[in-house]
Amino acid sequence: MEKLIDTFARHISYLRLSVTDRCDLRCVYCMPKNMKFMPKKDLATLEESYQLVKIFTDLGIEKLRVTGGEPLLRRNVLWLIEQLGALKQTGGLKKLVMTSNATQLAKMAKPLKAAGLDSINISLDSLDTHLFELVTNGGNLNQVLAGIDAAVENGISIKINVVALKGVNDLALDDFVRFAATKKCDITFIEVMPMGDMGNETRVAQYLPLDEVKQHLHKNWQLTPSTYKSGGPARYYDCAETGQRIGFITPLSQNFCAQCNRVRLTATGKLYSCLGQDNQYDLLTILREQGVQAVTDMIHQAIVEKPKSHDFAIREDYVAQTNRFMSVTGG
Ligand code: SAM
Ligand code: SF4
Repeated sequence: MEKLIDTFARHISYLRLSVTDRCDLRCVYCMPKNMKFMPKKDLATLEESYQLVKIFTDLGIEKLRVTGGEPLLRRNVLWLIEQLGALKQTGGLKKLVMTSNATQLAKMAKPLKAAGLDSINISLDSLDTHLFELVTNGGNLNQVLAGIDAAVENGISIKINVVALKGVNDLALDDFVRFAATKKCDITFIEVMPMGDMGNETRVAQYLPLDEVKQHLHKNWQLTPSTYKSGGPARYYDCAETGQRIGFITPLSQNFCAQCNRVRLTATGKLYSCLGQDNQYDLLTILREQGVQAVTDMIHQAIVEKPKSHDFAIREDYVAQTNRFMSVTGG
């Protein structure tokens, strides 16, 4: 099988599939309170999403992340996870994972595990009930904690993702490390990316370079660079006191595009070859009108045209952003 290799010799083996752009939370860095969602009629059906994924796995995609918006809000998403789980038996798929805010996980963890889900990245930007409500615009921390516990109880491996936010969670960094240790899971800090127009002042106010996070953590924990590689952009450190790994994803302060191995498919069947650029390919329309071979050809074209890097920047005097929110492209 011909591998998907782009013009910068990057092997594309990882697809992120968004199944909805909708969400029950409104994280302050992700989407505005009055977010306008895509019309439901424009979404790919779950059968179509599956068909598209199957084409990717036939082209050598080995890892699939189901995401959104909040993927667990998509009606019948479990059906899709079951089909994708079966692809691990029969097709080339090796890893089936998800990113979720965990609000629905208390009831979904068991069937997700049975369907073949390997692991979940869970977003958690505050461990304080009131602050969590503020940062998510109304979210309920207890619901999320119950979801995390259900995942652990059902044997789904989890990782906690924290978007580092100036003035929001920068005083609670050690609490996150301790929390991850109690759940025996790794934790990753992420720099906020300028995706979607939130106003330049908001972005500048939110942005906390992870160098500052690292410097703080180094004072309180013994961190040594880890040999572990997740295949993604995170750079990991082993934490001697807790035995967990702490990851740092630094799209702005230290661009990781040279190792990029992924592309993204939106809930409306548009393929984005870069999170931070506008190149898009309407695979759903091609599937409906021209069929599998035409989709395959378009995927090859997208890989050839995959941009070298994003152009994100957040500075006092300059913000370079995409016009799409992260929840549209699929985080
Ligand atoms: N709703 C799910 C969740 O929150 O995990 C999945 C979708 S969410 C868009 C995926 C990830 O993107 C989350 O970890 C979230 O924190 C992150 N994210 C969203 N907007 C972001 C931004 N502007 N910069 C950095 N990370 C962002
Ligand atoms: Fe929803 Fe996830 Fe965006 Fe928060 S980060 S608003 S949970 S999609």
